[in-house]
Amino acid sequence: MLETVISAFRQIVGDSHTLTDPSSLRRYRARTIPDQRQIPAVVRPSSVEEIQQLVRVAAAHQVSLYPISTGNNWGYGSAQPTRDDTVVLDLGRMNRILEVNTELAYAVVEPGVTQQQLYAYLQERRIPLCLNPTGAGPTCSILGNTLERGFGIGPNGDHFLAQCGMEVVLGTGDILRTGFGHFPAARTTHLYKWGVGPYLDGLFTQSNLGIVTKIGVWLTPTPEQFAACYLTCNSEAQLGELIPAIRGLLFLGVFQGPVNLLHRNRVLIMLGQYPWQEMDGRTPLSEPVASRLAAQKKIGAWNGVGAISGSRAQVAAAKRTIARALKGKVDRLTFLSDDRLHLLKRFPRMFSAILKMNIPDLLKTLENSYGMMKGVPSEVALSLAYWRNRQKSGSAGSINPALDRCGLMWFAPIIPMTSEDVSAFRSIIEPILARHGLETCITLTAVNERCFDCTLPILFDSESPGEVAAAQACYAELHDACSRAGYIPYRLGLHSMALETTKDDVFWDVVERLKTALDPAGVVSPGRYSR
Ligand code: ADP
Repeated sequence: MLETVISAFRQIVGDSHTLTDPSSLRRYRARTIPDQRQIPAVVRPSSVEEIQQLVRVAAAHQVSLYPISTGNNWGYGSAQPTRDDTVVLDLGRMNRILEVNTELAYAVVEPGVTQQQLYAYLQERRIPLCLNPTGAGPTCSILGNTLERGFGIGPNGDHFLAQCGMEVVLGTGDILRTGFGHFPAARTTHLYKWGVGPYLDGLFTQSNLGIVTKIGVWLTPTPEQFAACYLTCNSEAQLGELIPAIRGLLFLGVFQGPVNLLHRNRVLIMLGQYPWQEMDGRTPLSEPVASRLAAQKKIGAWNGVGAISGSRAQVAAAKRTIARALKGKVDRLTFLSDDRLHLLKRFPRMFSAILKMNIPDLLKTLENSYGMMKGVPSEVALSLAYWRNRQKSGSAGSINPALDRCGLMWFAPIIPMTSEDVSAFRSIIEPILARHGLETCITLTAVNERCFDCTLPILFDSESPGEVAAAQACYAELHDACSRAGYIPYRLGLHSMALETTKDDVFWDVVERLKTALDPAGVVSPGRYSR
């Protein structure tokens, strides 16, 4: 059966875009999580019409397709389908930037458009608009992360909030245009999210209800003035007061987009690999070694970063407001602007003394994180995947944690933005991680004024069976204990999807009914966020 379908696929997209040989499939099997799936073939269409034809053939023969945009999805499963024997539908060839509206500040992109591509497009044409990159890096798509409801720091950081207008190929081959997009004369498809009638876009995020072939994304006009705010607390005890202060500032609207609070260990894993020698091969990282590394790099117990932008007067007022609100609550508060960054680069040692920071060690990270908030894609956050990797990043040019066999699983629960909840949450996760020989490397991302998304990377040596087993057991325990306490992940991976979708719950019943209605032959991504 599959053979027949694959020959039909070859007729539609051509031989060179229907991959079945093991060497071509290698990149699609590469992953940072332990779970491995069987991938019989990959098809690479170049148009919506080809997708429609592929879907109709697949439906007629009960074969499933798993759409990916760039297929990186680090730490959640990469390009692998949720179930075995699903053909990967690689949409990477559909990589046109269909429109950029400079006046109304949005872009319309196909699935294969990467963060770097959109950034370069804006730069080359001197279009004064900024995108919001993710920590996943320049080679990742705009569309995949939006469908996963991911986020970055800086303006328009909640990517699904900034998405407007979608085109979707359903499992029947029909094309759906959401919002105002289904009105032939619509002039506001990418300007007004809700359209008229039921709001459908959400159905196609974190789901398997359709193949999304284009989306509109809102961009940010380059501001007159931009500043990044960096804060440091040297002691753990300060976090309790810092959280309500940050919440208050977010409610005032002085930051543009999410603020990140990074635990000391999170900064350490971004700055280098595991100190195997110093630790004599033992794990997890001991407190004396962690403290010594942190002291050397002048990293605090907690380290915060957020973006401020607007007119000169707005930025000046925001800085004053932040300084007032955080007085006595942080040990260091630094605002970085283009001019200041320039000076830091010219006189790193002098500024180390003035700012009480280790500028030579931190300059690259500061520069990249600053750039990301201004819309410049960067690998700065992605390097953490290499923490326990015994080899260095292998690939020249851009880094690829899946091909480099890094061990990374993300656990990302949502926590109310109160000190009590953060403390209760930490008291659950820290003993579990320690028991499994893993470090607690959390970032608390204030995705809105009311809650944090806690991104916790579970980092392990994928070549060590012991570490792999520990990481898996640790994930299962974290997921279970946190869910019972009310701290539920905002996003699931191949390693965690069935933990939720198999539950006896009306929610998943309704999802199943929607799936049957929209994709009766079950073509699209079986098992993905559904039973
Ligand atoms: P990225 O490479 O940007 O990290 P992916 O392409 O891996 O993102 O997409 C993340 C996940 O989102 C995929 O595993 C897939 O299930 C889903 N997805 C991606 N693109 C589409 C699409 N065009 N239509 C439907 N689902 C998609």
